Amino acid sequence: MNKNVLAVGIDIGGTNTVFGLVDYLGNCVSHDSIKTSHFELVEDFVDAVCLKLTKLIADQADAEIIGVGIGAPNGNYFSGNIEFAPNLNWKGIIPLSRLFEEQLNIPTTLTNDANAAALGERIYGAAKGVDNFVMVTLGTGLGSGFVVNGDLVYGHDGFAGELGHTIVEKNGRLCGCGRRGCLETYVSATGIVKSAKEFLKKSSNSSLSDLQFITSKSISDAAIAGDKLALEIFDFTAEKLGLSLANTIAISSPKLIVLFGGLAQSGDLLIKPTKKYLEEYVLSIYKNKIEIVSSKLNASDAAILGASALAWKH
Ligand SMILES: [Zn+2]
Repeated sequence: MNKNVLAVGIDIGGTNTVFGLVDYLGNCVSHDSIKTSHFELVEDFVDAVCLKLTKLIADQADAEIIGVGIGAPNGNYFSGNIEFAPNLNWKGIIPLSRLFEEQLNIPTTLTNDANAAALGERIYGAAKGVDNFVMVTLGTGLGSGFVVNGDLVYGHDGFAGELGHTIVEKNGRLCGCGRRGCLETYVSATGIVKSAKEFLKKSSNSSLSDLQFITSKSISDAAIAGDKLALEIFDFTAEKLGLSLANTIAISSPKLIVLFGGLAQSGDLLIKPTKKYLEEYVLSIYKNKIEIVSSKLNASDAAILGASALAWKH
């Protein structure tokens, strides 16, 4: 019998957890979600996800589940633990892979959400067949995953690839990690809102005058409509990102940089000036060699696809 081979992808975010079944071509055949923040105890959370997952699996008549892949903040690939994730209710070290394996009896692999996104992009998306690329996810923060010589870089402790927490301004903005001036305090959905508020203190000549209601989306919309200040905010953001990427390139020599997340999807608003600054700052041997593209994964399924890619890869 020709079996229907599928992988489970689970993406754990601070607010929501999405999960589903994915085939090898990257089609998400079914999915569901749950509110992460409703669960004080991780055991109750795992029970609730597994209950729903078991139903999804039972609905696929002749399915063989090859594995479970989980993307989670501070997920450690080596230990299978979530370690000290600032945006989750469960504090300390949480043995997440083990908890899922005990319930589902399926091999389970965990990594952080940006690494999962990088794998998803490599198997199903913009980095298909690319052995050297950098994935940058722009959400509340800035996550990154490095693929070098065809493999994700985990480093000695499993936490390699934290571009978002490289310091780009000495004594700069306060970061969630407790230090100042990290890249993600400038280049992320929250970072660009902070920039907008700073820019508006100097100039009120903008459609973005209502400080209370500024979001990264409203800054994008204003920039698309030609608002000069919004375009300056994007330029400021792009310079920080372009400079950081230029430095990154000198370390891993990628062919491609893939940007994922709302900010990256806003047409050429961010990519075009980022590319300009990257070329301005990068070492000459890399000039005009590196492409920056936005993710090709379907946004609504991207998180599940990325996590499921871990199971295939495993
Ligand atoms: Zn930081």
